[in-house]
Amino acid sequence: MTARIIDGKAVAAALRAKLARQVATLPFRPGLAVVLVGDDPASAIYVRAKDRAANAVGIAARTVRLPADTSEEALITHIARLNADPSMDGILVQLPLPPQIASQAVVEAVDPDKDVDGFHPLNIGRLASGYPCLVPCTPTGVMKLLAEAGVALEGAHALVIGRSTIVGRPMGMLLLAGHATVTVVHTRTRDLAAECRRADIIVAAAGRPQLVRGDWIAPGATVIDVGVNRLPDGRLVGDVAFAEAVEIAGAITPVPGGAGPMTIACLLENTVTAALRRRSSG
Ligand code: NAP
Repeated sequence: MTARIIDGKAVAAALRAKLARQVATLPFRPGLAVVLVGDDPASAIYVRAKDRAANAVGIAARTVRLPADTSEEALITHIARLNADPSMDGILVQLPLPPQIASQAVVEAVDPDKDVDGFHPLNIGRLASGYPCLVPCTPTGVMKLLAEAGVALEGAHALVIGRSTIVGRPMGMLLLAGHATVTVVHTRTRDLAAECRRADIIVAAAGRPQLVRGDWIAPGATVIDVGVNRLPDGRLVGDVAFAEAVEIAGAITPVPGGAGPMTIACLLENTVTAALRRRSSG
């Protein structure tokens, strides 16, 4: 059996087109501020991509560039200004930050109603409590891919590999909200292969190239690969050994072109959601 390929690029393009149509009907342009501290080349690429994608759907995106030696206090002052700016519906601080700045203090400085990354503890707490909130973009994108692929969550055994605040943990919460039976594994898990073999759905977010082997996957299972890893030869691979897994899984996302494109599309959706909520409550 060869797995069905879940085309994240196509799903993301459809979501962006839907958002562009929605934004065109609004009497205002939603605003998004992307804050970049320093000149990390990978961060600069991500920020440019977010800026371009936002403007393409009609969101007024502004990049705030600050020097690498910016102090935590100065960054928090910038964020406070953006919090108070009524034209800004979403604020995103590109991570990682330089070592003199504590990420947690910065994440907590963002107004939770403008926290389009969904990283603020208030949003994470609301998510855990099942209340409406801004949800982290990558796990939201995975949920959309599962829905698009017609994967039934209720009662399914879902395995999340990784427990980071930005991917693994919120992923587990979303799957739980979808009535899956959820297991979250990490580096202290005793038998990762055995956990994988029990799963109807695997979401791999470990950041370890080709960690999940084909013979770890139950025949017909759905595999969503969030990992993005650069091999020494320059190739980009996921956390799943794709060539092996595609022969066993029922449906699988490729890397690149799977979960990756969904993240920015969901960021744009969060910005529109934040704009509509703020303006209807203000
Ligand atoms: P992270 O903060 O480094 O967390 C990785 C998690 O995986 C940790 O919880 C770690 O366990 C676990 N882990 C690592 N090696 C493992 C192993 N051998 N067995 C079991 N668990 C293992 O990474 P992240 O930020 O969540 O990102 C994960 C991956 O997703 C990365 O490749 C990243 O580039 C990618 N990513 C992609 C997107 C996208 O848009 N597609 C967005 C975000 C991240 P411990 O907690 O025990 O250390």
